[in-house]
Amino acid sequence: MTYKIIILLTLLTSSLFSTQISVSSNEVKNANTVLITLKEKEINNPKLTFDKHNISFFKYPNKTDTYYALVPVSYYKKLGKYKIIISYIKNNKKIFKGISIKIIDGKYKSETITVAKGKVSLNKENKKRTKKEHASAMKIYNTTTDTLYIKDKSIEPISSPITSSFGKKRVYNGSLKSYHSGTDFKAKIGTEIKAINDGIIVISEDRFYAGNSIVIDHGQGLYSCYFHLSKMNYKSGDFIKKGDILGLSGSTGRVTGPHLHFSFRVNGIQVDPLQLMKLLNNI
Ligand SMILES: [Zn+2]
Repeated sequence: MTYKIIILLTLLTSSLFSTQISVSSNEVKNANTVLITLKEKEINNPKLTFDKHNISFFKYPNKTDTYYALVPVSYYKKLGKYKIIISYIKNNKKIFKGISIKIIDGKYKSETITVAKGKVSLNKENKKRTKKEHASAMKIYNTTTDTLYIKDKSIEPISSPITSSFGKKRVYNGSLKSYHSGTDFKAKIGTEIKAINDGIIVISEDRFYAGNSIVIDHGQGLYSCYFHLSKMNYKSGDFIKKGDILGLSGSTGRVTGPHLHFSFRVNGIQVDPLQLMKLLNNI
């Protein structure tokens, strides 16, 4: 009898102090982000591997022994089941834990564009320019720092209706060529655009497609982007606070009319910015 009670007590205490892992959702749409929370005492170097990518866990700002990791899922990721392997060091031993997620179809709307052959191709000079701009931006997006500049809840860059949602498929002449990589907000030329949270300006320049572009590094691989501006108030290296006026909206770059194109990168991957902001507001 006593023996049984001891076993029961041992089981209870071990479950009370065992590792807790939670996932924001086991079913994730393509181009969405997953938030993984890990609670465990006295551990070092917590990280995870998802589809051959290593992602670090970071400490929750206001919770003890609790860590989080943001896992971005690419738009073009094959749908189906995936395993995320979490690892950390405890008592000099490397511990592994596995969790499963299922990537489901985001069911993004599609728009068909028919263009005459040769009309979309760029001249040599512009081809060179866009290639260079893409490479230098990707170098920035793939840089992850340990510090998180984000404080409290993020705000939207503008309070205005959405004119084109994230993820809309662009089918040119019958084949899927690209997708809408951000959320478009209605904004007449000259509307003030706000920083969604604290960070450091890492891009402030005129680019071929995006026009006058501002990109903020919020730390830990999080980058928010504000495109087609008519005026940019800050330069690269400037530290900005949530709500600071980054510039004014416009119609610079390759656009058909004025609006704000707002997008987000997590560890280099382009994700739905509004879904990500909801997750960030829970950290
Ligand atoms: Zn857009």
